[in-house]
Amino acid sequence: MMGLYQGPRLLDFAKTPSHLQFNKYVLTGYRPVSTAQECLRSLFYMHNELGNIYSHGIPFFLFLVLLPFSIPWMEVDNVWICIVHYLACLSPTIGSVVYHVFMNHVGGEHVYDTLLSLDMFGVCLVNTLGAIPIIYITLLCYPTVQQTALLAYILLSAYGIYCATTARTNILRLRAFVWQGLFRFSLFLFRVYGSGVGSPNSLRLFVIMDSLAVLGGVVNIIQIPERFSPGLFDNWGNSHQIMHVMVICAIIYLHWGTLEDLAWIKSYQCPTE
Ligand SMILES: [Zn+2]
Repeated sequence: MMGLYQGPRLLDFAKTPSHLQFNKYVLTGYRPVSTAQECLRSLFYMHNELGNIYSHGIPFFLFLVLLPFSIPWMEVDNVWICIVHYLACLSPTIGSVVYHVFMNHVGGEHVYDTLLSLDMFGVCLVNTLGAIPIIYITLLCYPTVQQTALLAYILLSAYGIYCATTARTNILRLRAFVWQGLFRFSLFLFRVYGSGVGSPNSLRLFVIMDSLAVLGGVVNIIQIPERFSPGLFDNWGNSHQIMHVMVICAIIYLHWGTLEDLAWIKSYQCPTE
């Protein structure tokens, strides 16, 4: 299909609208300004957003269909934990796909900014929803602290969502996630050095998850590898696609860690004083 349908003539960096000139090392392959229908048609020909679309589009459908089979819906006391976790795993990919498919819409910068906020909102949701089972399990034996921490985290996340969806630069966007990251890190410390509980195997998986997410964000900001060879990575292998793959790996580690904790919680009894 990709060979049969050539698509419209693609643009060079200098010819694209200024709000789409966010990576000066990607020189060619920009889609022209398009209607929604033309944006959808761009799923079937080569251009410099195709890798971004499919690197999150394919995992979205795989997660949507496959995750329900591995989530222990009925074996957990609170089924809402499972629902929150499932939504967490799905949210960053769907927002991202919509953003990358329609970013060159004729609506211009206003539509672009709205789509970017949607993309960031998805990342905020995986941060927020993904951490809720971790908080719930870490503080399992302290119900009052547990509920206070969940509430505090949701408020902190609302602030993070506000920052991330209104930020104007990549660095400011990353900064929006720092507070949530520090909160999770303090939970990890509480598991290791305090009275936090959880599967002995899950912490390592959550640390890998956060490391992948941070590394992905950093690669995206420093624009490696295309910075060293402008034009070579226009369609494949540039920093944004590397970040996309790291985000998918981070979600898989989140899923593994949460499964460990949910399996562990079944047989755990909090010590009674
Ligand atoms: Zn993206």
